[in-house]
Amino acid sequence: MLMEFSIKTKSRTDFIDITGAVSELLKDERVKDGLCHIFVPHTTAGITINENADPDVMADITAYLDTAVPWKNNYGHSEGNSAAHIKASLLGSSVSVPVSNGSLVLGTWQGIYFSEFDGPRTRKVIVTVIT
Ligand code: ZN
Repeated sequence: MLMEFSIKTKSRTDFIDITGAVSELLKDERVKDGLCHIFVPHTTAGITINENADPDVMADITAYLDTAVPWKNNYGHSEGNSAAHIKASLLGSSVSVPVSNGSLVLGTWQGIYFSEFDGPRTRKVIVTVIT
């Protein structure tokens, strides 16, 4: 079962909580139990699961990544967005979350974040459910 949705990111770095969008897909497709795989088909965006209660957590992660991987750093890649490629690789391009009784089995404080590093752009998210 392969599903897809688009999102519009708003700035160069943008963490968008897609937990609700993924949950809606599962409801629409009447998924009961299985494993939900969420894949980002881009080289300058990634995906991560982290706290969605205190927005300072994602702000701190953003600040850390910007310090660790500065936008300019004598990179070789001529497109000029190597920092975005590096951040995307650090976070990875997919996460998997168990599904039970139609709901994502996430921890109390966990949210799924689409992670933009070279926005703003329109991006795709691909969701596969293994039942
Ligand atoms: Zn590039």
